[in-house]
Amino acid sequence: MKFIADSMLGRLARWLRLLGHDVVYHIHLEDSLLLRIAREEERALLTRDTRLVQVRGLKNFLLLRDNNPFVQLKEVIEEFGLSPFDKSCGMSIPISGGRCSICNTALEDVSKEQAKAGVPKYVFDTAAPFRRCPECKKFYWKGTHQQRFAKKLREIL
Ligand SMILES: [Zn+2]
Repeated sequence: MKFIADSMLGRLARWLRLLGHDVVYHIHLEDSLLLRIAREEERALLTRDTRLVQVRGLKNFLLLRDNNPFVQLKEVIEEFGLSPFDKSCGMSIPISGGRCSICNTALEDVSKEQAKAGVPKYVFDTAAPFRRCPECKKFYWKGTHQQRFAKKLREIL
């Protein structure tokens, strides 16, 4: 799904990207531009700003009242009916179809050989498959960090 998040929702934006959603987020994005992108690209606006959602004609938005990013994520998942778990591969986080948590680019598959130079040795030896952001070259894999995230997700949902 396509979202745009205001500057107070950095963690939420990164997590939604990891779950495969297309999230526009910049730490400095003026309200007027935020609203314009939401409208022109038909993105759901995620915001903590009560003032912002009173803008005339704004339809697709979610006002998040809680400051806790896990609570925010739960609200987004429930409000938009997202399915956070990838049942097909038995893993909690859908690595395939995921997006770079840093720059929002869709991840690409890479071979184990291609990953060799880009990930720590113990990761290379134990983890697979690997994916990479074609834009900022960050590597992704199913690791302990994701398992912790998945466990926390299960607790809140
Ligand atoms: Zn990236």
